[in-house]
Amino acid sequence: MAPKFVRPVIAAMAGYTPGEQPRAGDRVVKINTNENPFPPSPRVMAAIAGIEPECLRRYPDPNADAFRAAAAAVHQIDPDWLIAGNGSDDILAVAMNTFLSCGDSVVCPEPTYSLYPVLAELQGVRHVAAAWREGWKLPTDELIAAGGQSIFLANPNAPSGTVVAPAEIEELLRRFGGLVLVDEAYADFAEDNCLGLVKKYENLLLVRTLSKGYSLAGLRFGYGIAQPQVIREMNKAKDSYPCDAISIVAATAAISDQAYARQTWQHVRGERARLAGELVALGYEVLPSQANFLLATCPHGNARQIYQGLKQQGILVRYFDKPGLTDKLRISIGTSQENNALLGGLKALAAS
Ligand code: PMP
Repeated sequence: MAPKFVRPVIAAMAGYTPGEQPRAGDRVVKINTNENPFPPSPRVMAAIAGIEPECLRRYPDPNADAFRAAAAAVHQIDPDWLIAGNGSDDILAVAMNTFLSCGDSVVCPEPTYSLYPVLAELQGVRHVAAAWREGWKLPTDELIAAGGQSIFLANPNAPSGTVVAPAEIEELLRRFGGLVLVDEAYADFAEDNCLGLVKKYENLLLVRTLSKGYSLAGLRFGYGIAQPQVIREMNKAKDSYPCDAISIVAATAAISDQAYARQTWQHVRGERARLAGELVALGYEVLPSQANFLLATCPHGNARQIYQGLKQQGILVRYFDKPGLTDKLRISIGTSQENNALLGGLKALAAS
């Protein structure tokens, strides 16, 4: 029982369930939370090693200007089109706070990232789900007809890895007057993204992260991209110092080393194609993914059993006990060795 001074909405809610994190020192093949399998750029570690005590004694830059300048150069926009946060989850929370009032509705295609309804609930915002159309196609009419104030969608979507073409998102932006948040956490592994649309549409907010494409999930650094008059309002709703001094230094070094990051993206794309082919050969149905993970339907629908069997072998994948997902496993793309370990584990289970 929650103490009686807790808000009823908090007492009643389950909260977000993060993927399992093994304890330090555990020997596991960890392909369950979509981390990049490669280490961060050596420049990141060098930048962290060079941090002076003075940098920690003082408060950090509230707007992470060094990072914003570096990211602006990469994206060929001005820094005032960017807002930095403590992971992209933080940017999602700031967006919820900036664009939705208590009693409003946020509309999302479903299934998608399970944090969106949690953030809505915290805020007294109604979460309305519009089922993806057959083949994970965008339910544009349903998203608009739901009559919400904002639409949140992930592209590539999680946990499917599927993508919606920027042209379809453009149609949504044209027809829907409210804010459309496109969560591009996995866009670094995709062929296309909506960056080109931000210049044209005031009602588009893109959300990016350094957790996946830049191998920095442990650092917690994400950012939003929108027109300056939108960013200006979000700045009022953010934490005073959302990014600590170490994370600003590290994230700036990471985004400045595009050559290194792009090499990891290429490896992930290559392994993604190989692993998808091998899984299909084992009888799995695999959705076409442009993210750093695959959603695979198990040949006999026994995903929970396979998840547990893999776990006993020290291989962690993600199983979602949610409608439409109970026969599926979400598998993050690991190194070649990790992917081979997974395939070996699946073959051993099939043989037993
Ligand atoms: N968006 C999506 C779609 C995700 O899957 C994740 C990772 N759980 C995030 C955002 C959050 O990423 P982070 O807070 O690490 O930037």
